[in-house]
Amino acid sequence: MIKIEIDNGHGIKSLKGSPDGRLKEWKYAREIAREVVKRLKAEGYDAELLVPEDADISLGERCNRVNAVCDRLGTKNVCLVSIHCNAAPPDDGRWHNARGWEAWTSVGQTQGDKLADCLYDAAERVLRPLIPDLRLRVDTTDGDRDKESNFAILRWSKCPACLTENLFQDNREDVEWLLSLCGRDAVVRLHVEGIKAYVGKYGKK
Ligand SMILES: [Zn+2]
Repeated sequence: MIKIEIDNGHGIKSLKGSPDGRLKEWKYAREIAREVVKRLKAEGYDAELLVPEDADISLGERCNRVNAVCDRLGTKNVCLVSIHCNAAPPDDGRWHNARGWEAWTSVGQTQGDKLADCLYDAAERVLRPLIPDLRLRVDTTDGDRDKESNFAILRWSKCPACLTENLFQDNREDVEWLLSLCGRDAVVRLHVEGIKAYVGKYGKK
């Protein structure tokens, strides 16, 4: 069975969030992450929160935690999803117009790309009916949809890893939607379904 590690990004000291302060990324991502883990476990999957604390746990420590699990179980038997909300550059704490959902993996063709693929499919399936003008933000220049970056959590983790940016916390409409019951449920569901698809395809349940 593939062990699923869910990271919730920033900690309590992070100022990232909506300009009106209604959505705080560290808190929102924790609520989503907790629910994702709960639902996966309820369906018999081996999922856990990488950062159960509210504190800002360094990227180095988070990667150490993931890699300790990888060393114990084997890297292909572990996957990591890090949950975030996006902000338009320059991330200046003001409202902007960018919208959409995207996922990031480390640079190069890796198993993380397969995980991202499952998450993109789930985002399309779950979000599209609710957000008809949904923009799935992709980079297809390397033959797949995910965007690639040297984000530490993706680069240092030994197992397949993917970071999701769930709409924009500096877009008024996105924030309204993210905070709604329907929005929260959809963000949870897209992760649960995407991860289940990945585990079903590449591991034994
Ligand atoms: Zn973030």
